Amino acid sequence: MTLYGGIEGGGTKFVCAVGTPGGKILAETRYPTTSPEETLARAVDFFRGEVQALGPLAAIGIASFGPLDPRPGSPSFGRILPTPKPGWTEADIVGPFRAAFGVPVGFDTDVNGAALGESRWGAGRGCDPALYLTVGTGVGGGALVNGKLLHGLLHPEMGHIRLPHDKTRDPFVGSCPFHGDCFEGLASGPAIERRWGQKAEALPPSHPAWDLEAEYIALALVSFICTLSPEKVIVGGGVAQQPQLLPLVRQKVGAILNGYIQSPAILNGLDSYIVPPALGDRAGVLGAIALAAQMPD
Ligand code: ADP
Ligand code: ZN
Repeated sequence: MTLYGGIEGGGTKFVCAVGTPGGKILAETRYPTTSPEETLARAVDFFRGEVQALGPLAAIGIASFGPLDPRPGSPSFGRILPTPKPGWTEADIVGPFRAAFGVPVGFDTDVNGAALGESRWGAGRGCDPALYLTVGTGVGGGALVNGKLLHGLLHPEMGHIRLPHDKTRDPFVGSCPFHGDCFEGLASGPAIERRWGQKAEALPPSHPAWDLEAEYIALALVSFICTLSPEKVIVGGGVAQQPQLLPLVRQKVGAILNGYIQSPAILNGLDSYIVPPALGDRAGVLGAIALAAQMPD
């Protein structure tokens, strides 16, 4: 049986799994992210053990926090780019797995991985383009276009677009160290916490924070819908776990687009157009397995 290794490399935890071409997970481990050396060695050890138990891996896929270089052939391919995360700048993520297993290693952002996983096995099945947006500690988006993840210069940075910011309604200056009040600076979990002085998960559903949050997410989605024309929009991440948020976002997307896009998905299907992820907390690692599965032999 063909087996793939998948790694979801998060800023706080790593998830490693062995899976089949159909996305069935046969073995899995989770542990906290520490130094690159220790964190990557733990993953190599896990896969060594599973190779003994289950058989060789055909390829490995890594969906990692960024910024990173996903362009095969580039001198910094497989590495983390300058990051405030101590010790991780220029860390070689791909190298240790190539050295240990001698198989092709796919490498992309965590959000691109989730976009691919949801497209193959989750809420985005059969939809192309498909857009995956995460609203959590950071805000980011990944898109599958014509069957492939969208890359370009490095990878899209959908969390850093500019949004209309009504400073009378929302005087908060924004939390992005680069741009202040970009989308992430206004709408990430830490931005909500700084604006309201409480963790996002502690704010009650009736709190005005949620209408404002929905407004920012809707404004951003309207930009992505108008540029990418996605057939499905999947919104994940910790902040999006608030059940009152997506209904508000759908309502505002409909209102802002104002009947202009003559597609049934927008005109009367927003409930099944803007949706939560279907793969839950396995989206990341399944995305990594999907990255491995698309590697050429
Ligand atoms: P990460 O982005 O680090 O991978 P998450 O997607 O879980 O992790 O995002 C964490 C952020 O989401 C934190 O800022 C946290 O306050 C916020 N968050 C987590 N759970 C919830 C929740 N149920 N409701 C609102 N915000 C949440
Ligand atoms: Zn920014």
